[in-house]
Amino acid sequence: MASSISVDSSPHATAVDLRSDTVTRPTEAMYERMRTAPLGDDGLEGDPTVRELEATTAAMLGKDAGLFVPTCTMANLLAILAQVQRTEQILLEAQAHMVTTERGAATFTGAFLLGITGCRGAMDLNRLEDALRPSASPLRTAMIALETSHNAAGGAVPPVSHMAAVAEMARSRGILVHLDGARLFNAATYLGLAPAKLAVHAGTVSLCLSKGLSAPVGAVLTGPDAVIANARRIRKMIGGTQRQLGIMAAAGLEAVTVMGARLVDDHASARQLSDGLNALHPSISASVPQTNIVQVDLSRTGRGSELWVTDLEAAGVRVRPLGETRLRLVTHRHIGPAEIDKTVAFFGSCLNCVN
Ligand SMILES: *Cc1c(COP(=O)(O)O)cnc(C)c1O
Repeated sequence: MASSISVDSSPHATAVDLRSDTVTRPTEAMYERMRTAPLGDDGLEGDPTVRELEATTAAMLGKDAGLFVPTCTMANLLAILAQVQRTEQILLEAQAHMVTTERGAATFTGAFLLGITGCRGAMDLNRLEDALRPSASPLRTAMIALETSHNAAGGAVPPVSHMAAVAEMARSRGILVHLDGARLFNAATYLGLAPAKLAVHAGTVSLCLSKGLSAPVGAVLTGPDAVIANARRIRKMIGGTQRQLGIMAAAGLEAVTVMGARLVDDHASARQLSDGLNALHPSISASVPQTNIVQVDLSRTGRGSELWVTDLEAAGVRVRPLGETRLRLVTHRHIGPAEIDKTVAFFGSCLNCVN
């Protein structure tokens, strides 16, 4: 008999949920740590488990200090608020999450975001160079933001040499670098490098704990002591200081210290999914993933993405549309070989659906 709270399985026991890696549930070990975590008040004397998560994450990323925040969106917002002045400019890849999904932050930060056209998540360095010319804009560029793995580029991982080149272009001009590392551990896994080897190319780095790392909520912003102290002050201003937050930090500790090691499985699942879909029929074209995101182009099936989403949902496979003719599928801890087989099979049977 299943208990009323299924602690270690996906929410819909029979559904294959490929909408996002954010659907991952906490592990048993996370629940255990949450139950036994030493607690304090994060707005008063501080919470010991939060402090441990912040210090552990900072150390793993080679930074002085960390700040636990509710979301990676808030981590990116605070990186700007703590370091960029109103009327200053931030350069970043045109499809970066900080542009596509988070650009509303500009209404609080007063900083102008300028997207630089890129390829597979990496900015075109010539265009970046052009945008950095003093004559290019009366706005002072204060920050360049990188993203890895790159969400909109299908989980692509820009080469380390690209990150290093951007860091050098910024350093030589006295410009800050922020890394939106929501899925930094996926990128590090793909490259076979420690996360710190990527984080070294940025001053501040955000890391999301609630995606493939499976924590229920949370992100950590890491960086220099003075910047994190400033971000901590601003976090309080925007209502991001929470109280017995150690309960959530306990799950986060398990996420950063244990869960990175299994992301390689998610990448293998994504590859298996991509291979399976590409073998189905010439009208279905799946991207070849570097990490855990597969984009599926269905334009030649004669059916739009919304129709595919509806039909797959009816068959017990949950996916999200990416524009009119593409889908976005994300693998994670609850997706194994059986779920991949089921998904590929349903794509095959939906190919024959009547419109
Ligand atoms: C998901 C994501 C975020 C935002 O994370 P939340 O915790 O959902 O706010 C930021 N950047 C990238 C690249 C992401 O994929």
